[in-house]
Amino acid sequence: MGTAVDASNKEVKKDVRVIFVLGGPGSGKGTQCANIVRQFGYTHLSAGDLLRAEIKSGSENGTMIQNMISEGKIVPSEVTIKLLQRAIEECGNDKFLIDGFPRNEENRAAFESVTGIVPDFVLFFDCSEEEMERRLLNRNQGREDDNIETIRKRFKVYMESTLPVIEHYNSRGKVRKIDAAKPVEAVFEDVNAVFASIDEKVAA
Ligand code: UDP
Ligand code: MG
Repeated sequence: MGTAVDASNKEVKKDVRVIFVLGGPGSGKGTQCANIVRQFGYTHLSAGDLLRAEIKSGSENGTMIQNMISEGKIVPSEVTIKLLQRAIEECGNDKFLIDGFPRNEENRAAFESVTGIVPDFVLFFDCSEEEMERRLLNRNQGREDDNIETIRKRFKVYMESTLPVIEHYNSRGKVRKIDAAKPVEAVFEDVNAVFASIDEKVAA
């Protein structure tokens, strides 16, 4: 259970539970989050979707965000954290899946210190690069970063910056690893088992 407070502790916000959903581009985070929402009542916050909505809204940061995304680079923490924090505060729910964030150590440390929220655990979708590449090139969501050149850059950033975040939580016993190379339904069976066991613990 994380308590959201601001850094100076002036403004105490609501109690929230957060699960970080991590895995490479194309590992199925968004697809499985939709299943978890349906089955277990979490609110899904995709950091990438929030950033893309920010571009569309015509925000002053829009051009910067767009440039970062088309290069596969990580948007400055303060921008992403502000969007996540706002979404958490505006939402009536108290349990969230944060998908695609934190992407590097700086994201991770800044989120914890700014929001005071510590994740319950990390749901990690483990998938080979070959399979992720195949999915990204086939998904046709009209995303300008789903081209082979940008995909390669995103894989590199994932390996260099995001895997260490997963390792950070793994060394603290906080990672639930899922074999994400299987078909969607089979992956959801494994995801389901993770969430069903939490519900049992909460009920106990
Ligand atoms: N992004 C970012 N910070 C985040 C999440 C996303 O900078 O916390 C940017 C980054 O450029 C990334 C892009 O948004 O490559 C797409 O992220 P998303 O999670 O939507 O897609 P994925 O790479 O997981 O398929
Ligand atoms: Mg996604």
